[in-house]
Amino acid sequence: MTRPSVVIVGGGISGLCAAYELSGGVQGPSATTPRIELIEAGPRFGGSMATASFADRTIDLGADGFLGRRPEAVTLARDLGLGERLEEIAASGASIYLGGQLDSLPTESVLGVPTSRASLKSLRGLPRVARRQAWRDEHFARRYQPSGDVSIGEILRAKLGGTLTYQLIEPMIGGIQAGRVDELSAESVFPALLTAARRKGSLMKNLKTTNPVLPGPAAQLALGPVFYSLTTGVASMVDALVAELTERGVLLRPNVEVVALRQRPLSAYPWEVDTMDTVTAASLVVLATPAAVTGRLAGSYHADLQRLRQIPNAGTAMITMQFSKKDLSLPAHGTGVLIPLGTPLGDDLFLTTALTFLDRKWPHLRREDDVLVRAHVGRSDDRRWSIENDAALTARVVRELQLVLSSSASPTNSLVQRWPEGLPQYFVGHAQVVERAKAAAKGLNLILAGNAYDGVGIPACIGSGRAAGRYASEHLL
Ligand SMILES: Cc1cc2nc3c(=O)[nH]c(=O)nc-3n(C[C@H](O)[C@H](O)[C@H](O)COP(=O)(O)OP(=O)(O)OC[C@H]3O[C@@H](n4cnc5c(N)ncnc54)[C@H](O)[C@@H]3O)c2cc1C
Repeated sequence: MTRPSVVIVGGGISGLCAAYELSGGVQGPSATTPRIELIEAGPRFGGSMATASFADRTIDLGADGFLGRRPEAVTLARDLGLGERLEEIAASGASIYLGGQLDSLPTESVLGVPTSRASLKSLRGLPRVARRQAWRDEHFARRYQPSGDVSIGEILRAKLGGTLTYQLIEPMIGGIQAGRVDELSAESVFPALLTAARRKGSLMKNLKTTNPVLPGPAAQLALGPVFYSLTTGVASMVDALVAELTERGVLLRPNVEVVALRQRPLSAYPWEVDTMDTVTAASLVVLATPAAVTGRLAGSYHADLQRLRQIPNAGTAMITMQFSKKDLSLPAHGTGVLIPLGTPLGDDLFLTTALTFLDRKWPHLRREDDVLVRAHVGRSDDRRWSIENDAALTARVVRELQLVLSSSASPTNSLVQRWPEGLPQYFVGHAQVVERAKAAAKGLNLILAGNAYDGVGIPACIGSGRAAGRYASEHLL
């Protein structure tokens, strides 16, 4: 009998987890484990997860934390022997730059959406009209009940008005997704908001009583800390996975791009996976690549796979800066500052969408004499960061930081990391595109995994990769 062969395309966390699960998960390989080949176009594994040395410490260049209230990442870290390196986030709350001043974000809110008018009290820079809109939602809620999928922005504008939507809420939701609330799907990005909007009455009150944290079994709601990192960097999970997969005999091929998939209907192996130099026969192929790449490779076999090319990615960049502690004073509390598109200087003048105080979040990054601040730039509709060189980009975000933090401090060290592929955008109708593409793929012995489908966070990607690996082991020919 021919030995089953699975090729995994894409060596980000999703593809690595597909290989981990397929090679036996926590138990490890057995007599039925297939031949596994993982092909990664880039020079290293990990995709959007990477570390670098900066200011005498190891910092994450992409994702730097993960949600603890979903079990996937914490469980994987423990299974890989990294449990002792798990570190809880050490600060909470954040500020927002409103009307030219820094205000504390409401503590009573769900993904930036306030759940009462009273919670807006701390926001001195919020225009009065926004408070009136919140009062109206509490007492005379506007009638609006979406039936199908709509944009997050449509719900927020209909129920809470434009000022709260763009000044207060978009900086949070749009910031996490690097997108715009008027494009992002409520069903796929913020289902709790859609559920709250479908109930009659106040959106804020309904949201307060809708479980926003997680769909799925209540048992998953381990009420542990909200966010974790690893003391060796979140991306050290990638190193542990690569070491484990190597040990298990998985063929790992970095620096090799998959250029085509070809069907072989008459063969024991229904697919051939082509790179520039090799052809690998496969019983099943896991595509853990960005949606546009998956659509390009598999689109000619089904129109619903071709449609994946419509899922765009928002490129971003992060500028990490070291400041002398005596030069820069930060707000007393919180993990950072959100910056709305509209500021007193005008609309859309700032490149920076948020500042994060890295060493306040993660104790392993703390040192006596300095602070580490990261500026986030880039959105689905803003690629200005891509035309500036590193020095110009850094100079610009430093000027913006000085304005926001009322400081004249200059960094002693800086590092620019660009993520041209950034984050996939789940636009209105996303769930339907995904459902159809997954069904089409399964009919063809292809399996889709990765951040383009069911969530962009690390836990969701780990879940997606492991589910792909499980499905592959159950369906090997
Ligand atoms: C700047 C940034 C910050 C983030 N911060 C957080 C955070 O703090 N917390 C959190 O939970 N999540 C965060 N995320 C999201 C999370 O890191 C990603 O969604 C996740 O890592 C994506 O993993 P993936 O494997 O699905 O995709 P990717 O990491 O994009 O991997 C896909 C891989 O496919 C490869 N590939 C593409 N084409 C081919 C081809 N033809 N042949 C072979 N290989 C190919 C690519 O090179 C890439 O390595 C962040 C993302 C970014 C960009």
